[in-house]
Amino acid sequence: MNWHCKSINEILKTLNASQQGLSTEDAGDRLLRYGPNKLKEIKKRTVLQMMLDQFKDFMIIVLIAAAVVSGVIGEPKDTIAILVIVILNAVIGFIQEYRAEKAIEALKMMAAQTATVIRDGQPTSISAAEIVPGDTVLLEAGNIVPADIRLIEVSHLKIDEASLTGESVPVEKHTNPLHDKWMPLGDRKNMAYKGTIASYGRAKGIVVLTGMNTEFGKIATLLQEQVEVKTPLQKRLAKFGQRLAIAILAICAIVFGVGFIRGEPPLLMFLTSISLAVAAIPEALPAVVTISLALGAKKMVKQNALIRKLPAVETLGSVTYICSDKTGTLTQNKMEVQEIYVSGQLIKSADISKQQCPTDNLLLAMALNNDATRQKNGTYIGDPTEIALYAISEEKNFKKETLLNDYPRVAEIPFDSERKCMTTFHKRSEKEFISFTKGAIEVLLEKSTNELTTHGKSDIDKDKVYSMSEAMAQRGLRILGFAMRKWNALPENMTADNVETNLTFLGFVGMMDPPRKEAGEAVALCKSAGVTPVMITGDHPITAKSIAKALDILGSNHEILTGKKLEKLSIKAFEKKVEDISIYARVAPEQKLKIIKALQNQGQFVAMTGDGVNDAPALKSADIGIAMGITGTDVSKEAADMILLDDNFATIVNAVREGRRIFDNIRKFIKYTMTSNAGEILTIFLAPFFGLPIPLLPIHILWINLVTDGLPGLALTAEPAEKKIMEIPPRHPQESIFAHNLGVDIIWVGLLMGGASIFAQAWGLKTGHAPWQTMVFTVLCLSQMGNVLALRSEKESIFSLGLLSNIPLLGAFLLTFVLQMATIYVPFLRPIFKTQPLSVSELIICLLLSSIVFCGVEIVKWIRRKKRDTDKSS
Ligand code: ATP
Repeated sequence: MNWHCKSINEILKTLNASQQGLSTEDAGDRLLRYGPNKLKEIKKRTVLQMMLDQFKDFMIIVLIAAAVVSGVIGEPKDTIAILVIVILNAVIGFIQEYRAEKAIEALKMMAAQTATVIRDGQPTSISAAEIVPGDTVLLEAGNIVPADIRLIEVSHLKIDEASLTGESVPVEKHTNPLHDKWMPLGDRKNMAYKGTIASYGRAKGIVVLTGMNTEFGKIATLLQEQVEVKTPLQKRLAKFGQRLAIAILAICAIVFGVGFIRGEPPLLMFLTSISLAVAAIPEALPAVVTISLALGAKKMVKQNALIRKLPAVETLGSVTYICSDKTGTLTQNKMEVQEIYVSGQLIKSADISKQQCPTDNLLLAMALNNDATRQKNGTYIGDPTEIALYAISEEKNFKKETLLNDYPRVAEIPFDSERKCMTTFHKRSEKEFISFTKGAIEVLLEKSTNELTTHGKSDIDKDKVYSMSEAMAQRGLRILGFAMRKWNALPENMTADNVETNLTFLGFVGMMDPPRKEAGEAVALCKSAGVTPVMITGDHPITAKSIAKALDILGSNHEILTGKKLEKLSIKAFEKKVEDISIYARVAPEQKLKIIKALQNQGQFVAMTGDGVNDAPALKSADIGIAMGITGTDVSKEAADMILLDDNFATIVNAVREGRRIFDNIRKFIKYTMTSNAGEILTIFLAPFFGLPIPLLPIHILWINLVTDGLPGLALTAEPAEKKIMEIPPRHPQESIFAHNLGVDIIWVGLLMGGASIFAQAWGLKTGHAPWQTMVFTVLCLSQMGNVLALRSEKESIFSLGLLSNIPLLGAFLLTFVLQMATIYVPFLRPIFKTQPLSVSELIICLLLSSIVFCGVEIVKWIRRKKRDTDKSS
């Protein structure tokens, strides 16, 4: 349907219908007819493709080929066993990848854009994908336009169309239906296009085109290719993996050469070397990182932190500064008017009705200069500040809806956080208009020339009024001033500069927005974790300080900086003091960029919150941009790495804790896999140097790799956080994977594991124990189980953690043990695994040798704990 060509009658019909919007039923029919309002996505991998991808690795292909060749020449039973193990390995890989992909998809759905439409006569928030042609959409600053919309009511709407036309200056819109049918895109003033951003004002419009039919859809094919973002750890692991693979291939070549010289069958040696390469090359590590991050992100949603960009999960643990908005994040955003100032007096809100005249004008201003609305069911819609003012004026019999009949709103200059005020115009008669302005107290005082008192208009003592507001702010109240002006006609030039001047000051209100209780605890946790909390607010410095004190944000040697002072500081001068400032007050959103830059230049890793339309650049340039789920605009959410579903500061700190836990567990997984691989390689590589035959067969190597790397390794990612995880400083984002002894541990634990296995082989051969190979097989497999148990904590002993604190890992441990015993003792499995039953004494020897690694790791942890304690006390 081409709405651009509609006749004026049809458009007028639609305008009338727009009051009611579509009915749910009609919208449902249209959704079926026109399809969802979505851009086509690039085809996702099918389940089959995902499964086949598991066999893409070159070494796996070589292994399969070698196994088939050896089966044709030798025993096909061996080949089948090897192939089954390779398939099982692929199945585990596939299940994990599938779960991760589903988790990422679910996160994407949760972060999907919503829009406000009128359905069945009521403003309703729906998923943008459900919008259909004919829907009436309400737009406001901060919205990403959800479809191509013909505007029918506009109030100062400006749209940033850079995504469509490349033009970075926002375009002013109006509602002339016939104006721009044949205009080029950028000149069509009564259309709002999908994907562009409402940067100022408000509007109402009818959807004309959705999905791929929109102007954005036409060019969208170019934008579909999303580049997969690799996390810093994945990049480093991929690079390291390549180098390691070369080293392992060299070792495998030596293993093959040595075996060949010793007269072992060449095909068996080839298969052994390839199996070793498959088992030891950690090609799956980057994928494991993605899986851990995706599953971690899935868990974080339950704690109200919605991750939009996966790398953020990994980097959260490196955050050193959390710069947070005050209102709603550190405070409850449940505003309540407690006191008012009018005509030189302070009045408690409960006593307002007893007062006379001037309060009436103040209450009138509160009711009329107000964007909140009340629904039929009695609940309010709007900003909490507006709702608080609506509620108090209504309580004192100044009901907005009724008053609007006598004082209809005919124009407005919307609020913006840079100007810190808003103005509405109301018509009394053809020759009588009143404007009400409300906003930050100092802004209103500056714009006022007199004051309305009980004796009528009189001079204003600005210093006195301001100091009374400061006294109120000291008690943590949020101050908002009110003023008015009478007009004979609506001003032609409706700009803030022209209109918000020569005002008559009416008074101010003090609103309580109590700090969140949990924010105080979170601030304390931040400090113990070496993370500095910083408050950034558009509010008054005194109010900000009072709230910061209640939450203990303001450190003893820390300062408050106002937006005005910040503006004057050069970046160099600011950098010198940025680490000593914990409150920024009366700042504009644009100034957040300067704060981030200065902190980053000082080597800090910054998380920054934001909710408004102007916060997007700061959210993008912060190391972790955090948007508000409840109060945040589409634009801020789109720019953010993470969305707080409950707008709560404590959620950020929980997310940092979770990020640290996830990263720790990835490190533990890397350590576990690499030590296990080192153990396997060293066993096979070193045995010939002690004059021993090749200790293991290919099937053994592949089995050990399957059962140890599979379930127990993955269960490590379920490990709860280390007890003192929030008592240590943040990890440096550039820190090597092998920091904190990881590299050293891999080498010595690998040597210990290899040593125990070779000892089992040497002892078995020397003492004439026929099942020596089964012993090596068992020792190597169970050593890895001991290793995974001890590795659960990098610092604490497993005994203080308790075996039951990671049930999946305990389950994986027991299952692996049972499976290993089955390969030895279940008769029909023995020929497949080429094992022989172990006697009780042989089994005991194996168990003792296998526990060496566990004991070794626990002892080293104990020594390190002791050393740390002595270092601390000295
Ligand atoms: P924060 O920056 O902590 O999230 P904030 O609401 O104080 O909270 P802004 O939204 O930038 O920050 O507002 C800046 C100032 O503008 C406020 O302190 C207040 O004085 C004034 N103000 C806020 N909301 C309104 C409003 N709805 N109408 C008029 N003035 C407002």
